[in-house]
Amino acid sequence: MNLIVQVGIDDTDSKKGMCTTYVCAVAIGRLEATNVKILGCPKLIRLNPNWKLKTRGNCAVAFTAELEKRQVPAFKEIILRTVRELAELQAEDTNPGVVFYYGEKIPLKLKSFSKKVIQDIVTIEEAESVARLVGAEMYKFKLGRGVIGALAAIGNTLDWDRTFELIAYRTPENRGSPRRIDVNSVIEMNKKTFPRTFDNLDPTTGEIRITPHTPCPILYGIRGETAEMVIKAHRLVKALEPIERVVVYQTNQGTDEHLRNVKISEAKPFWSVVVNGVVSQKPKVIRGGHVIFRIRDSTGEIDCAAYEPTRQFREAMKKLLPGDEVQVYGGIKEKPGLPLTINLEKLRVLKLASYFRKENPRCPSCGKRMKSEGRGKGYSCKKCKTNSPPNSARLIRVKRDLNLEMYEVPPRARRHLAKPLIRVKFSTREF
Ligand code: ATP
Repeated sequence: MNLIVQVGIDDTDSKKGMCTTYVCAVAIGRLEATNVKILGCPKLIRLNPNWKLKTRGNCAVAFTAELEKRQVPAFKEIILRTVRELAELQAEDTNPGVVFYYGEKIPLKLKSFSKKVIQDIVTIEEAESVARLVGAEMYKFKLGRGVIGALAAIGNTLDWDRTFELIAYRTPENRGSPRRIDVNSVIEMNKKTFPRTFDNLDPTTGEIRITPHTPCPILYGIRGETAEMVIKAHRLVKALEPIERVVVYQTNQGTDEHLRNVKISEAKPFWSVVVNGVVSQKPKVIRGGHVIFRIRDSTGEIDCAAYEPTRQFREAMKKLLPGDEVQVYGGIKEKPGLPLTINLEKLRVLKLASYFRKENPRCPSCGKRMKSEGRGKGYSCKKCKTNSPPNSARLIRVKRDLNLEMYEVPPRARRHLAKPLIRVKFSTREF
């Protein structure tokens, strides 16, 4: 009788190198060479994007294996050895964790733990207590903080929604040097596969989004709706350097799984929220080109920010006016001395406030606009010496240059978990 074992790994990289997905890819390769069967695609799970101790994108990985009971000790040894060998253990903030969970079905307790790690902050002790409860085994390297993400990656069954990412890894001699890839082939790939693949090209700048800018072993990652689609896209991309290996991950990227609906008074630092409110303070542009405005609901007020890298998204935000009803999406930042601020990912304009401007009457003789004589005193034309009463001015509704629709930041400024509008369009889930 074969065993099902789920493995989670996290916190193996540093700012200088490595990537937890690569550790997972190598471990899987080594396990397959010993006749262990890997079931389905491994998972690449993005955790709380506002978490301060993350290295970059706060990702953890997990995969499911089928093996004979007698293989278990060697199986575990291969994984732990791979982590020991590849993790950036010399880096102060790298604290790897590996978790083994025996069985196919994920208990509810573990699912809710995973959700909490994506939406909130947890402690290592909390992870250890959940692991004890569900019977998961934990292995800690140094502080072992990685057990949090490793357990969360196992616990996420991607029931909420899922997307896929194909990652192509570089050979060791090329790591650290500029990535070589035929840019035109990426543009072609995007033309042929978008929107079934997404966020691989920024249409606002023409920038290729599949190659990272870090010294990690990834050559490129292609995001899409299905495993078949990212494989098709990968075949269309021309790499100009050798590829060591390719892995297709199932993931919670682009799903909005980090967001929760809240009232303003409930919003907390490190959360990512969806808030319905009314613009209460006109947008202002602060140093650096960031746009800040304030919204309120029945429970309080909060600032919203569209930072400079969000480029043309800021232009739309600048057009908001007090009284506009909006739904904002984003992560909550706390900066000393400043009010809580929602770092905007998306904004839906629900209702535009009406604004009017006064138009003075025209002179009945010469047709020119008459001048005001002062408050409540009516209008006059100096040239023709004609007068009009105070109520002869007309109120004209100001045409608003915003639509009742959702606005989003461009791909270059998008958080991994944020759902692009192109996915929102086809989705049935609504906040
Ligand atoms: P990369 O994306 O480049 O692989 P990273 O950004 O995922 O790196 P890690 O090196 O994995 O960053 O560091 C994040 C650490 O924080 C991990 O140890 C993880 O277990 C832990 N962690 C992640 N999310 C939370 C959370 N919500 N609460 C507490 N700890 C967390």
